[in-house]
Amino acid sequence: MISVRDLHHSFKIGKKGKEKKIPVLKGITFNVEDGEIVFIVGRSGSGKSTLLHIMAGFLTPESGEIQVEGVHTSSFTEAESAKFRLDHFGFVFQNFQLMPGLTAFENVELPLKLKGVNKGSRKDKVKEIMQQVGLTDVQNHYPNELSGGQQQRVSIARALITDPPIIFADEPTGSLDSETEQDVLLLIQSLNKTRGITFVIITHDDEVARTADRIYKMHDGELVEGGEQHEI
Ligand code: ATP
Ligand code: MG
Repeated sequence: MISVRDLHHSFKIGKKGKEKKIPVLKGITFNVEDGEIVFIVGRSGSGKSTLLHIMAGFLTPESGEIQVEGVHTSSFTEAESAKFRLDHFGFVFQNFQLMPGLTAFENVELPLKLKGVNKGSRKDKVKEIMQQVGLTDVQNHYPNELSGGQQQRVSIARALITDPPIIFADEPTGSLDSETEQDVLLLIQSLNKTRGITFVIITHDDEVARTADRIYKMHDGELVEGGEQHEI
């Protein structure tokens, strides 16, 4: 289970000496149960990505607490966060965040390399997942030689490659056509069913949110449970 308790975060913007503090998260409390697919919706700029980055340990919150399987992750150092993330989380970034100097194949392979998996097993695993997300034909392309939708699928494959128990995905289907979007949603549902992977997914798309166990809406720095689908 992921437990988020009274999370606050603000950003400082503007020139030095004239900084303004903008509160973005104003006391967020919620749980994500093991094996759930939870969706987070909300207006652009409402703080969805900020929340996901904090939950995955990319950003330290101003105050509040996060526990993952009973471990206090919000008080980790950067190095502890990186180590924990490699073992527990996959993350699909809104802007993909691929390594420009690595091919699609190498980008997906990287987390396995960091985990110390041997070359033979790495190649087999990457091949399999590239096929699942339909990237076999472009696996030797560098990110700047890929379309937006292909980059997004590389980012999804990289998040899945280590079989993490929890996957955070920030608008994972935002750059995909509706057919590819359906494929990705089916893949998510199948991974959830067969391997019990927990998903926390941000989306703008009501159609996507229909596959949710639970929907939360970010509104004015707070997260409210959306309940039934027709409410969004
Ligand atoms: P979108 O749907 O457009 O992706 P979002 O809900 O993900 O939006 P966030 O990216 O979390 O929104 O941003 C929330 C607010 O925090 C915005 O007003 C944004 O301008 C501000 N913000 C985000 N990151 C930073 C930063 N690094 N420095 C300053 N302000 C930031
Ligand atoms: Mg965002």
